[in-house]
Amino acid sequence: MKFIKPETVNSLLDNLEDSEGKTYFLAGGTDLNVQIKNGIIRNANIIYINHLSELNGINAVNGSIIIGATTSFHEILESEVIRHHLPFFQKSLRSFASPLLQNSATIGGNIANGSPTADVVPLLLVLDAKIELSSKTRNRFIYLKDFFNGYKQNVMESNEIITKIIIDKNAEKDCITFYEKVGSRKALAISKVSLAGMKRVSGNKITMIKLSVGSLNEYPRRLFKVEDYLTDKTTSEIDFTKVEELLDKEITPITDLRSDKEYRYHVCVNLIRAFLN
Ligand SMILES: Cc1cc2nc3c(=O)[nH]c(=O)nc-3n(C[C@H](O)[C@H](O)[C@H](O)COP(=O)(O)OP(=O)(O)OC[C@H]3O[C@@H](n4cnc5c(N)ncnc54)[C@H](O)[C@@H]3O)c2cc1C
Repeated sequence: MKFIKPETVNSLLDNLEDSEGKTYFLAGGTDLNVQIKNGIIRNANIIYINHLSELNGINAVNGSIIIGATTSFHEILESEVIRHHLPFFQKSLRSFASPLLQNSATIGGNIANGSPTADVVPLLLVLDAKIELSSKTRNRFIYLKDFFNGYKQNVMESNEIITKIIIDKNAEKDCITFYEKVGSRKALAISKVSLAGMKRVSGNKITMIKLSVGSLNEYPRRLFKVEDYLTDKTTSEIDFTKVEELLDKEITPITDLRSDKEYRYHVCVNLIRAFLN
């Protein structure tokens, strides 16, 4: 194992160009250290990034809220900027792990680790968040919905790192919001199912709706087919048989140590019903 502690982001990006073999970033270490300890990761380059101030912090810039990749969940939960502009996002993250974990775990690490259960991802998906991927030669911005392409797989190149998460300042404006994380207990629970939702309603009609789920596919994702069906419908026009039919096409729940697929499916349906009622 080769450990590297770059002085700046520029020298980190130089390192990425030159390094041979697999590279991992050590941010909060709450996922990576477990994988190293269990021997899942060996003979890799480990680049420490948590000391790099350029990657840390929360700022309102023009129309956006910009969160540095190494910003911890504790910092997000304490941020006045987030409280003011994105209160739903902040409140929902209170169910993340425990205060001890919140101090170390970073938003960039939660995204990059790519777990189907990653709590921040369904929330960022309904907020239409973008991420900045940086390499020595370019910075590119992609929507988070386009980042994952398989179980623990993503479109990040080997010479890139996530540097920022960008959310529109008005992303929550005039929206009715919903977030539920179902786990074995309230604290320190990895989710069995999670659902994030945002909608705008005029009169009785849904004029806009966004839904995303965690722990129901190989990575968290938006339910675009269900959203399309629900848009421009009044509550009484919604046919739940149709919702379930579309949901079947968008989720692939599995049975594992934490839960079984039937339970996951029914909880998801019930959460959608709860949000629509
Ligand atoms: C006891 C326990 C409870 C937990 N509870 C929860 C929970 O409730 N909800 C939840 O979602 N997760 C939970 N987790 C998982 C973990 O804490 C989170 O996924 C956390 O956000 C990971 O961030 P980190 O900074 O610790 O990442 P690290 O462990 O430092 O890194 C994780 C991975 O991300 C990559 N990475 C890190 N930063 C970047 C970057 N900027 N750009 C590109 N790649 C990067 C690393 O290379 C590595 O592969 C828990 C973990 C433990 C041990």
